[in-house]
Amino acid sequence: MLDQARHLLKRVYGYDAFRKGQADIISGIMEGRDTLAILPTGGGKSVCYQIPSMLLEGTTLVVSPLISLMKDQVDALNRLGVPAAYLNSALSASEYRDVLRKAAGGEYKLLYIAPERLDAPMFASLMEQMQIPLIAIDEAHCVSQWGHDFRPSYRQLASWIGRMKQRPLVAAFTATATPEVAKDISTMLSLHEPNVFVTGFARSNLSLSVVTGADKKRYLKEFIAQRPDQSGIVYAATRKEVDSVHEELRRQGISAVKYHGGLSDDERAGAQERFRYDEARVIVATNAFGMGIDKPNVRFVVHYQMPGDIESYYQEAGRAGRDGEESECVLLFASQDIQVQRFLIEQGAADEGRKAIQLNKLYTMMNYARTERCLQQFIVEYFGEADVSPCGKCGSCLDETEAVDVTGEAQKALSCVGRMKGRFGVALVAKVLKGSREKRIIEFGLDRLTTYGLFQDWNEKDIVEWLYWLVAEGYLRVSDGTYPTVGLTSHALPVLEGKRQVLQKRKPLKQRVVRQLS
Ligand code: ADP
Ligand code: ZN
Repeated sequence: MLDQARHLLKRVYGYDAFRKGQADIISGIMEGRDTLAILPTGGGKSVCYQIPSMLLEGTTLVVSPLISLMKDQVDALNRLGVPAAYLNSALSASEYRDVLRKAAGGEYKLLYIAPERLDAPMFASLMEQMQIPLIAIDEAHCVSQWGHDFRPSYRQLASWIGRMKQRPLVAAFTATATPEVAKDISTMLSLHEPNVFVTGFARSNLSLSVVTGADKKRYLKEFIAQRPDQSGIVYAATRKEVDSVHEELRRQGISAVKYHGGLSDDERAGAQERFRYDEARVIVATNAFGMGIDKPNVRFVVHYQMPGDIESYYQEAGRAGRDGEESECVLLFASQDIQVQRFLIEQGAADEGRKAIQLNKLYTMMNYARTERCLQQFIVEYFGEADVSPCGKCGSCLDETEAVDVTGEAQKALSCVGRMKGRFGVALVAKVLKGSREKRIIEFGLDRLTTYGLFQDWNEKDIVEWLYWLVAEGYLRVSDGTYPTVGLTSHALPVLEGKRQVLQKRKPLKQRVVRQLS
């Protein structure tokens, strides 16, 4: 069987060998097992269901939320001589009917469909006529509330599969899943004893770093100027910010294009092409850019603002270095950016439960921005891998700043949090430490705490920052929920008892920025 698969890999795609995981996944499917495959972006997921589709009788259904990618995939398959089509809102009524008719006649090996189309009555009757050996579900994390990109339309998948006259094999694919999300995918899709395949999340050719408090425009200009032959992506949070950063780079004579949802299809396609073929060295974009672009020689990805969760960050940053060459991923962090993300969550359409999950993800992202641990380790552990050693090349690993003993300050802050009994948020703890006379504080009697005013010489922003640093280092924990409160973790106790020293690499801002640049 694997010989046949290998033969197809060569004949259809022209590749000599399977990549890590592909052979296992394909043979699992061919042995009739449900599958859950977590492969990094660019890892070659498509081949894992396309090859089985060519070996199995009937038409494989591919469920995907990414309409723009469907067309690319189907065009590529057709060029390779594999009959494939898609059903989504981009088709005209007559094109749609044409595809339905041919699908009913069994003319396709693969049929791509958007999840929200599954419930259409026309599709239900089509299903009666088709022979479907396999359903491949792309971006399967969308089925999970715990994922970063939950889509209600994915929720219908399991019951929909359950209604089919003969249950096909189900193979779920995603690039980003924490262990919690992986488990949820398996449950929500009712996978039968799936063959679970997870590759390592570490990308050894990426050097990650976080730059805090820099003059972002200036930093970015210098960063790009110092890499005159390199191609890179700059992600910004809003269209307006993309416009302004792009304008600024152009003024510096840097060949840059821009990409966001406010531009016409032609403008976006043009920008993407120019970037892909190295006519423009830099693309400034919102997160609308990147899905399905497969440019191998992206040497750096700079985030001008922090995204809302680690999944998004790593997915975007991971567009650097697809060719395996050394590449850099820089997060420009300013604590104001947190407010932007919080606002987006609060104003979003999600229900309360989902918002609480999003906020929780945002806190983890903030911890990433502030941690002094190895950044690669931080991310990989987030995705559930244990026992990873420090990468040796990230901003933390290379940071030679000497650590200062800050145990005393930590004790003061932790003790204040302890006295406030996990009932208040970070902002209010900061006010108590500052010795604020605000009404709430007096009303709650918090001015009578022995820790009241212990940081009166600090400004409040720095106290907040200090508390979040203690969160990032694991001494404090911010609760889930829409009104998060802060409390002690088990690591706080030894510090309070004087049994554990707290060290911090505290350095003047300027020095931080300069070091990151050199
Ligand atoms: P994903 O969907 O996992 O992001 P793709 O399926 O788009 O990744 O594959 C990424 C790239 O790798 C594509 O250009 C694909 O043709 C290529 N590829 C896939 N499998 C192999 C292989 N075994 N050998 C070489 N290249 C491969
Ligand atoms: Zn590291």
